[in-house]
Amino acid sequence: MSPVRQPIKRRITVPVAIGPLTVGGLAPIVVQSMTNTDTADVEATVRQVADLARAGSELVRITVNHESAAKAVPAIREALDAQGCKVPLVGDFHFNGHRLLTDYPECAQALAKYRINPGNVGTGEKKDSQFATMIELACRYERPVRIGVNWGSLDQDLIVRLMDENARSAAPREAEQVMHEAMVQSAISNAERAMALGLPKDRIILSCKMSGVQDLIAVYRKLAERGDYALHLGLTEAGMGSKGIVGSTAALAVLLQEGIGDTIRVSLTPAPGEARTREVVVAQEILQTMGLRAFAPMVTACPGCGRTTSDTFQHLAQNIQGYLRDQMPVWRTQYPGVETMQVAVMGCVVNGPGESKHANIGISLPGSGERPSAPVYVDGEKVTTLKGEGIAEQFKRMVDDYIEAHYGQGSRPGD
Ligand code: SF4
Repeated sequence: MSPVRQPIKRRITVPVAIGPLTVGGLAPIVVQSMTNTDTADVEATVRQVADLARAGSELVRITVNHESAAKAVPAIREALDAQGCKVPLVGDFHFNGHRLLTDYPECAQALAKYRINPGNVGTGEKKDSQFATMIELACRYERPVRIGVNWGSLDQDLIVRLMDENARSAAPREAEQVMHEAMVQSAISNAERAMALGLPKDRIILSCKMSGVQDLIAVYRKLAERGDYALHLGLTEAGMGSKGIVGSTAALAVLLQEGIGDTIRVSLTPAPGEARTREVVVAQEILQTMGLRAFAPMVTACPGCGRTTSDTFQHLAQNIQGYLRDQMPVWRTQYPGVETMQVAVMGCVVNGPGESKHANIGISLPGSGERPSAPVYVDGEKVTTLKGEGIAEQFKRMVDDYIEAHYGQGSRPGD
């Protein structure tokens, strides 16, 4: 018998409503993303927000950095609504958010949430009043805020004060620990200030983003110990390609395993020409591989080896995985539960039949040096052997039939 896997015990946080979504409490961990278009370019921003939402982003953040961006926000919301895309928009404000939200009330209303970076809200005496203005506007429009502290823009007055105190103490801590403490204090003290200004706790989400994996883990553990605020997780400036994916996964997996985190963003730098939606796919895959949520059928594929020297196997695995993900926008509504389906695509008979039998539907190629001939297993039973050049298309039709039979309107649970 296989051991019973214990579910991850989530830390219970104060739930925050963002339009129709809930972040925190025990709501499913929300996947979010951010555009990289000029927000003033309504058409490009609408297109990218819709792409991100179609890929599965449940919240999309857009930068609101100047007047033309603030003016564009209501038009972006309207155009998304007109095409049936209801994804809530989050406004990302730095330096001038107090002014833009005051001068453009339609922008303030079109956004479902405001992100405030306490390190970039102003300097000197202006800092407190500008922060207060943003919180008062969030109260007026009944919008939640994320108090998003970032390592690269940490409140300099706070870090100087903590460094000075540390230098004078009898047992000074490492500079790194003081920095972590400053991140946490910045988030919590600003959240307390927002509450003192009238914003209820169920409209506050916190984040403390850092670019180092161990730093991020240390800071979020501290943050989680010090309160029950809903937390947004993400490694900032994660980087490009595999470096960004590995760094984000390593950091987020440790925290999620400890039950920390109510919404995640994977901050990947796309390669030139690469789709922005990749960060959404990676975020979903982190949650799905950890067993926290299911978004699309999972494909188990072996890495291939000396037994798969032709590229037939790689083409088949890529073809099936791409097909399953491409169909999800339609399948998600048409076939509820399909996202939990397991599909195996294996290279040869060494592990192929075994993995295929464990999947809902699996195919195993014979290895190299043989004509393509692939046994297919459905719910653990071998049902046929596909032969010839059209194996991928034949297998996709079998997957379609399986989905219709098991997740379609006419199917019964357990079929
Ligand atoms: S299943 Fe076969 S092809 Fe795949 S890695 Fe194992 S031995 Fe190699």
